[in-house]
Amino acid sequence: MSIRTAVVTGASSGIGEATARELAKQGYHVVVGARRIDRLEQLAAEIGGTALPLDVTGDESVRAFTEAIGEVHVLVNNAGGAKGLAPVAEADLDDWRWMWETNVLGTLRLTKALLPKLIASGDGLIVTITSVAAFVHYDNGSGYTSAKHAQAVLHRTLRGELLGQPVRLTEIAPGAVETEFSLVRFDGDAERAAKVYEGIDPLLATDIAEIVGFVASRPPHVNLDTIVVKPRDQAEAGRFARRS
Ligand code: NAP
Repeated sequence: MSIRTAVVTGASSGIGEATARELAKQGYHVVVGARRIDRLEQLAAEIGGTALPLDVTGDESVRAFTEAIGEVHVLVNNAGGAKGLAPVAEADLDDWRWMWETNVLGTLRLTKALLPKLIASGDGLIVTITSVAAFVHYDNGSGYTSAKHAQAVLHRTLRGELLGQPVRLTEIAPGAVETEFSLVRFDGDAERAAKVYEGIDPLLATDIAEIVGFVASRPPHVNLDTIVVKPRDQAEAGRFARRS
C-alpha cells in the first residue's frame, strides 16, 4: 500500500505536535504546519515528516502551504486557541479578531484548499479540534466560545454537504488539556496559566493524539462524528473538582 499523507495544523506545540507524532507512528507521512518553523523542523526530523511554514490567518501563507502538498488523506484542523477572558462589555476587538481568524477562518481556509485533494484520495478524513466551548458558553469567555461554536458549525455542516463523497468528518471536543493554550490565552503569564490546571489531573496532549489515532485507524465506512473528552476532574466547561 502507498504511504498515506496527513496534514496537521498548529503542530509546533501541544495537541498538534502530539498528533503528528501519533500519526507518524501509524505510518503516515505527516506534513506539519505552524508559524514557529524551528520547532516544526525539529519535529519533522524526528518523525520523518515535512515541515512547512503556515499562518492559518493569511491567504497567501495558506495558498503556499497547500500548493506544496501533493496527496492528502487526513487533515487535522488543530491550529487555534484563546486570547483573554473578558466580559462582553470589555471585549477586546483585537483578541476577538485573533480568535475568529485563527479558529474559524483558519479552519475554513485549510479545509477549502485541501478538500479537492481529500476527495481525490478516495478515502479522506477531516478531524477538527473544537472544544467543550463549542457546546456551551461561559461568563467572560464569549470571544472563544463563539469562535469555537462557529468553527464547529462549519465542520458539522460539511458532514451533510460531503455526504456521498469519500471523506469522513470527526469533531473532537476536549475539556482542559495542559498545553501552551493557557499561556497563550494569558499572554505569557505562566503563573496565571498554571492556576488553570492547579489541583486537577488535566488531559495531556497525548490523550487527544491517541483519540485522533484511533479515529484515523478505523475502516473507511466508520465515521466517528463527535467525541467529547474531559478530565475525570471536570464535569462542565468551568466546573472542576480541585484538590487544595
Ligand atoms: P497550544 O499548545 O497553544 O497549540 C496551539 C497551536 O496552534 C500551536 O502549534 C500554534 O503554533 C498554532 N497556531 C496558533 N495560531 C496559528 C496561526 N495563525 N497559524 C498557524 N498555527 C497557529 O494549544 P493546544 O491546546 O495544543 O491547542 C490546539 C487546539 O486545541 C486549539 O484549536 C485549541 O482551541 C483546542 N483546544 C485546546 C484545549 C486545551 O485545554 N488545551 C481544550 C479544547 C480545545 P504557532 O504559534 O507556532 O503558529
